[in-house]
Amino acid sequence: MWKGGTTSMSWLSTMPSFYSVIIGVTFIFHTNGIPWTEEKLQHRAVTLTEDEIRAALSHTDLEQMWQRDLRPLLVTRYPGSAGNQAVQNHIKTTLGSLGAGWEVMEDKFVSQTPYGQLPFTNLIATLDPSAKRRLVLACHFDSKYYPPQWHGREFQGATDSAVPCAMMLELARALDEELKAQKDSSPDLTLQMLFFDGEEALFQWTPTDSLYGSRHLAKKMEATPHPAEATNTNQLQGIDLFVLMDLIGAPSPTFGSQFQDTSSWFTRLQSIEKRLHSMNQLAEHPNSVQYFWPDRHVGRVIDDHVPFLNRGVRVLHLIPSPFPSVWHTFDDNEENLDRTAIQNLNKILQVFALEYLNARPAVPSDPQNAP
Ligand SMILES: [Zn+2]
Repeated sequence: MWKGGTTSMSWLSTMPSFYSVIIGVTFIFHTNGIPWTEEKLQHRAVTLTEDEIRAALSHTDLEQMWQRDLRPLLVTRYPGSAGNQAVQNHIKTTLGSLGAGWEVMEDKFVSQTPYGQLPFTNLIATLDPSAKRRLVLACHFDSKYYPPQWHGREFQGATDSAVPCAMMLELARALDEELKAQKDSSPDLTLQMLFFDGEEALFQWTPTDSLYGSRHLAKKMEATPHPAEATNTNQLQGIDLFVLMDLIGAPSPTFGSQFQDTSSWFTRLQSIEKRLHSMNQLAEHPNSVQYFWPDRHVGRVIDDHVPFLNRGVRVLHLIPSPFPSVWHTFDDNEENLDRTAIQNLNKILQVFALEYLNARPAVPSDPQNAP
């Protein structure tokens, strides 16, 4: 991603926004009297009880995430590389092995880059493709390309963005039962995960040498009718909230809210942090709030959310401010990750997803009360 800089900001502000126009011509009304595309604006999350939270978090396992999800991602994986293909296979295999039944689609394309034409592949995993509305979690799985003079040193991109992608895989695994139950209850709201290729600039960050995958997918989703037979609504309108995670995994991350229209969801992340703190679910977490600061001003950062934001999608951008000190250095590796912070954030994210999806976990009955 790219922070600051007047060039990038002016590029951001000159990108067109079509969403208000699209909404204006959408007249497909749901049974409750508002168009389904506007239900997201009135969406209410459930608040899980402490017993439900304990049940929900009983399956999350940092060591398992580390070995099964994260390690296979810590390879050189710039677009078109063998590692990039291996990581795609890893994501597809991992989600495909789960009981909830994820549909995983590929969005393959070729783009001109400073190094000539290169192949890119985004992965789109959807829990229930028949549901109109989607809570989206997103990360980029490519790593930054360093040319051959750096040979001998490998850029792992551990926070950038292997950890966020592993956190998404861990969420799908740990909440497999809950997500399956939520899907089986046939709500019109589901979970979708987007794994972007080509976030990084290959040579130097410009509007055309960056965000290859997200630019391609946002445009494609805008042009794809949704639901399938729709004539005037598209896949972007199916996104309730687009939660992008980036640069996560370093010690002591702090996040600020960047967007007014999603600030209530950002505040909910803080409320979950406080609740988990009071339940002693967060390790090395001395104060009730360490991570999520809704009132803290943070500058906007150009990242994979921008092509979606500019088309009217509501965004939560979970990127620490300041960035990790290892950002875009060879020290952004496994050794410098903070396991405790990652596990704490895993728990907060998992509760957030369940509450947003109105997915109450089954609470095991107390064996002492059993007959
Ligand atoms: Zn990067």
